[in-house]
Amino acid sequence: MQHDYDPENIFAKILRGEIPNNTVLETEHALAFRDIRPQAPVHILVIPKGPYATLDHFCTAASDAEIAGFWRAVGQVCEGAGVEQGFRLIANAREHGLQEVPHFHVHVLAGRSLGPILS
Ligand code: C5P
Repeated sequence: MQHDYDPENIFAKILRGEIPNNTVLETEHALAFRDIRPQAPVHILVIPKGPYATLDHFCTAASDAEIAGFWRAVGQVCEGAGVEQGFRLIANAREHGLQEVPHFHVHVLAGRSLGPILS
């Protein structure tokens, strides 16, 4: 499958420092920041620094070092987010996934009971 990446998407602008963000963690391969419209007491977005549009794009095109570095950062964010009472990861992709920003990101939600996700 062909994956297109729009370098003008808002997370690309955040990575270039053109738009401010509330950073939680920055590593060689990932940036984590607070979502501007939080859906839970903890709502953090983790993004890879490379130009990948979706999870499938990232996991098929990124290097092993980028993939390992990204998921290591997700783990660090989850631990900080309150691992004792739990958390939820969400990765929306393309139209049916209702992805709003076309730069791969994982939502980390925590801080309250999140309810059923599938019915
Ligand atoms: O997964 P999806 O693409 O739908 O989610 C994008 C998320 O990015 C939204 O939760 C939105 O609130 C967040 N966002 C943000 N900062 C921006 C633009 C969007 O945190 N400047």
